[in-house]
Amino acid sequence: MQQVILLDNERRRQRTFWVLLLITLPAALLFTGINVALGAMLLALLNLGLVLASMGLLMTRAYNSTHPGPALIYLSVFFGTVTTTLTWPELHPSAYVWAATFPVLSYVLLQPISLALCTAIIALLSASVGYWLGAESEPSRLAPVQLAHILLPPMGLLIFCHCYAYSRYQSDQRLLEYSLREPLTGLWNRKKLDSEFVREAGRAYRTGMPLSLILIDLDNFKCLNDRYGHEAGDKALVFIAQLMKRRLRQADLACRIGGEEFAILLPDTAAHHAVMVAEDLRTALEKGLFFYRGKRIHMTLSAGVAELGRDGETWTDIYRAADERLYACKNEGRNCVLSSLG
Ligand code: GH3
Ligand code: MG
Ligand code: MG
Repeated sequence: MQQVILLDNERRRQRTFWVLLLITLPAALLFTGINVALGAMLLALLNLGLVLASMGLLMTRAYNSTHPGPALIYLSVFFGTVTTTLTWPELHPSAYVWAATFPVLSYVLLQPISLALCTAIIALLSASVGYWLGAESEPSRLAPVQLAHILLPPMGLLIFCHCYAYSRYQSDQRLLEYSLREPLTGLWNRKKLDSEFVREAGRAYRTGMPLSLILIDLDNFKCLNDRYGHEAGDKALVFIAQLMKRRLRQADLACRIGGEEFAILLPDTAAHHAVMVAEDLRTALEKGLFFYRGKRIHMTLSAGVAELGRDGETWTDIYRAADERLYACKNEGRNCVLSSLG
């Protein structure tokens, strides 16, 4: 899901960049002609530069790059052209409207937000300097009300863009969180477990710290369901999830990976310590005061423990090792924890 959101955002950005280049190309060509006609050769050259940059980015398909480089090249040439235009003494103040495009373009083309914000602010400041430089021959351009007119709209747009981009980022994050949570218990789901294992295993190999996995299966859960009903079963699952959240460390990743099956990934934890954690959960559940309709329901669990390196080098290896131990628990009468440590 994270990949899907990132991919969607990236595709949207690339498509917008492509459209922008298609618009820029004829517009910059038009301004090249106008400036040649007016005898403003420097501005004509800059606009020609913008034409060539847009053409180059289109022909090399650089707008498809995930790197911010091509967008920064386009924005630098565009901002440079507009800023220099603003220093032109004969320029009509209405041309300052172009500065309002800086924040929007920076936000649309650049990720992350901080990079876009810096670029937009730098561009606005340089455009303001350009405007003041061009004011030498026309002092009325420095009147406070004029300055307010030309500075406030881009600043307002800058704030608006930032708020918009930030709220989108937050809703993306919320969506991502939903997709990785299991709805009944609020624990992480299997997808999160798989991706976190890859991340944590990489960290464990880099730092030399241990990484352990506990697989848990509730004992005779079908009997509980049959005797007290499905609602009681659901409440029991929520009770166990809360017990895990209370007793585990912040760094431990507790997941519900099946009906009454759970997995816990424990970073920086060796097998003997993971066994202690599993034992703690087992005794806490055994003694747990779970009530349904005023009646106490007794529950137990079985758990298998494995450690990366000690029980295998891959996710499949340690998952299989923990799973085999879990089922060995079932054969030994349930309500126990097993690891390679015996
Ligand atoms: P064992 O000790 O061998 O693990 O026995 P068990 O009864 O726990 O195992 P089994 O796999 O036979 O049954 C699991 C039961 O879990 C079956 C199903 O009714 C119940 N279950 C699975 N998901 C849910 C759920 O979301 N809510 C409820 N209430 N029950 C569920
Ligand atoms: Mg089961
Ligand atoms: Mg079971």
